[in-house]
Amino acid sequence: MTTNLKEVDVVIVGLGWTGGILAKELTEAGLKVVALERGAPRSSENDYSLPNIRDELRYVVRHDLMQNTARDTITVRNNPQQEALPMRRLGSFLPGEVVGGSGVHWSGHTWRWTDMEFKVRSNYEERYGKKFIPDDMTIQDWGITYAELEPYYDKFEYTAAVSGKAGNIGGHIQAGGNPFEAPRVRDYPLPPLTPILASEMFTDAARNAGYHPFPRPSANASQPYTNPDGSKFGGCQYCGYCQRFGCEANAKGSPHMTVIPIAMRNPNFELRTHSWARIPGSLRFSRTPTPSGSPALPTQTCSTARNSSSRRPSCCYAPMPSTTCT
Ligand SMILES: Cc1cc2nc3c(=O)[nH]c(=O)nc-3n(C[C@H](O)[C@H](O)[C@H](O)COP(=O)(O)OP(=O)(O)OC[C@H]3O[C@@H](n4cnc5c(N)ncnc54)[C@H](O)[C@@H]3O)c2cc1C
Ligand code: SF4
Repeated sequence: MTTNLKEVDVVIVGLGWTGGILAKELTEAGLKVVALERGAPRSSENDYSLPNIRDELRYVVRHDLMQNTARDTITVRNNPQQEALPMRRLGSFLPGEVVGGSGVHWSGHTWRWTDMEFKVRSNYEERYGKKFIPDDMTIQDWGITYAELEPYYDKFEYTAAVSGKAGNIGGHIQAGGNPFEAPRVRDYPLPPLTPILASEMFTDAARNAGYHPFPRPSANASQPYTNPDGSKFGGCQYCGYCQRFGCEANAKGSPHMTVIPIAMRNPNFELRTHSWARIPGSLRFSRTPTPSGSPALPTQTCSTARNSSSRRPSCCYAPMPSTTCT
């Protein structure tokens, strides 16, 4: 016995930074959004607080916040002639599986690209000629410029509490920042983190050698901060448990404590955790017009059925550990 799910404007599969930002922006634009996240809902206060969050066995060795490769995984091949095989042991690539995705256990380094990186092919061809890049090399320009993206870099930095020192504001080089960065409209929302001794020694050595050292921008709040959406950050405790862990001080900019709670407060949004989207036969891809009549957004619309008695969809809402898609 199945029932058809009510259609919504957008279904987001996976609620990390990408899905979380989309959830907030699209619901604010008036669209009805459902997010399917295969992982569990976890929160800073219940799951990432001291002392339990410093459990290295759980988070580093057993990958508690990451994809369970015994159950499903990506496949890898080294060239198109090989058969792709499942990767059953995580290495340096540690995809997240929780509300917030990898953004919960990321480090927080937040680089902007330079102007040049968006047009690598053009730059090479201009300098070395059209024949410089071999025909079978797929290198391309991105089709979008740094200037077009700058407002979004800026918005993200203020959302995620990025600490750093600007090097180029509106074309004016700023002492102490990265003099080679592309122009930005304003400085980071927070001053740089306090340098450790090794960093101070490196800075001195690099400067004496004629280089331009600068503090690395990172989404680790150097002091308590409230972002433009009202999300509150504590100041970084320099505990060193950024990568592979949730932040014990709520200081690391992460989607589960910024964009996702904002989306959750919006009645247009529904989050379904432990919901594993299985693409073949389960999701219909469609293009849905936006309410304003602006260009259509590519969306995934869940149009399949679910078991009415258990309220579990039989298809795109498979509770873990089941991977069945019927
Ligand atoms: C340990 C680590 C450190 C990092 N450090 C940095 C850093 O310092 N600076 C930096 O810029 N980047 C860093 N990154 C990379 C950065 O964190 C990721 O690029 C970014 O978080 C990806 O966000 P995303 O939303 O695109 O994907 P993800 O965060 O991977 O989110 C995808 C979500 O989708 C869910 N999902 C996947 N498949 C399905 C499915 N079929 N059905 C339902 N749900 C599904 C997953 O559970 C997950 O929650 C780091 C990554 C890791 C793992
Ligand atoms: S307190 Fe600072 S060092 Fe520790 S996890 Fe949070 S951001 Fe990282």
